[in-house]
Amino acid sequence: MSTDPNQAVACRTVDAEERSLLGRVLDRIADHCRARSLFVLHYCTGCGAIELPPTMTSRFDLERVGMQPMVTPRQADILLITGYLSVKTLKRVVMTYEQMQGPKYVIGLGSCTINGGMYWNSYATIKLLDRYIPVDNYIAGCMPRPEAIQQVFLDLMGRIDRGEAQAWKDYYRRYDWYLGQQQQLFGTNWQAPTDVVGEAIRYRLVGEQTLGSHTAHLERYAPYYDQLGIIRPEPARMKARPQLEVVSR
Ligand code: SF4
Repeated sequence: MSTDPNQAVACRTVDAEERSLLGRVLDRIADHCRARSLFVLHYCTGCGAIELPPTMTSRFDLERVGMQPMVTPRQADILLITGYLSVKTLKRVVMTYEQMQGPKYVIGLGSCTINGGMYWNSYATIKLLDRYIPVDNYIAGCMPRPEAIQQVFLDLMGRIDRGEAQAWKDYYRRYDWYLGQQQQLFGTNWQAPTDVVGEAIRYRLVGEQTLGSHTAHLERYAPYYDQLGIIRPEPARMKARPQLEVVSR
């Protein structure tokens, strides 16, 4: 038997089409179990975070439905963003998201994650969170009540159970688009420490938009163009951010 972990049957990623009937039944059982054992990482950026203690503790007690808080992204299933995000904070959120293992889910809590909320015209905050990472559910409201938060958690659990919560795969299949959105805020040389394209290959989630003009900016992704037989495009031209004019007297 092979001792190479990439070749051993137990460790190899198997494509959906390749799965036998038994494999697919096991997938469904795994989804069913996963939906009832979810660890939530709270990224408490805004005022909406104040509704989480009653949601989690004895009053509404989310643990009875199979959810509990987790302190590290590497062991968390759900990333809960609880409010407005400044450009600086978004960078940390992207790095946190990329550290989580798939399958992973994101919930945007509060109107600020949907359209900027009361900070909609602020130069310092972002509007639509799903331009930068895939979002499974939004919870509208400023701030949403624990009942609404619980309802969305239950909805997400149901979709995980039915195998429908697949938004995380979009990040790999369209990484170039997400990276482009991030680069508009953080600069053309922006990259997180995670090797997202390498992960996409490993998960077998490479799509037509995994690599493109935005990944072409970054030398770390250059070998993947050859490996996947893709012609490396010209790096995308970014719109220059307005510069302050210095007037000399
Ligand atoms: S949606 Fe309202 S409660 Fe939530 S972070 Fe924004 S301003 Fe605060």
